[in-house]
Amino acid sequence: MRIGQGSDLHRLTEISVLFGGETDINGKPCGLWLGGEQVFCQLKAVAHSDGDVLLHACTDAILGAAAAGDIGRLFPDTANENRGRPSVDFVRAALKIAREKGLVPVNLDATVHLQRPKLAPHMGRINASLAKLLGLPVDCVNVKAKTGEDLGDIGQGLAVAADAVVLMRFA
Ligand code: MG
Repeated sequence: MRIGQGSDLHRLTEISVLFGGETDINGKPCGLWLGGEQVFCQLKAVAHSDGDVLLHACTDAILGAAAAGDIGRLFPDTANENRGRPSVDFVRAALKIAREKGLVPVNLDATVHLQRPKLAPHMGRINASLAKLLGLPVDCVNVKAKTGEDLGDIGQGLAVAADAVVLMRFA
């Protein structure tokens, strides 16, 4: 068995209500990406990729369990090919590296830190998305949500963060 931990944080920016929080001025989908699912709201993460903090934390947790470095080393945010890239690619790449070392996921536990919107209505599909991505039964994935109690950058709605812990076993 191996255990890995990951965390991430991104700044948040408001999306114009003119575009309904679903597409930007160029018609590109926006809103918040969490666990590979889109949470439609008037906020988006400022990022080189799609800004999915939960998947970035999961990627680092998987790489951590495999003693294989970190997401920044694998996918530099200075690289053009990573611009706007879906973060599911990062998780899949981390899983491939882990698999090459004989490791497969056992379970994932994660926390998203976000003042608003409330994530409870979205948790079912976020958990299902992560379970599918990791090749796990849905009861082996658990994502929790915490507000920042109006304190600090999370609480002021300026940032979203995530922590993830993944257990992996030798297949
Ligand atoms: Mg990130």
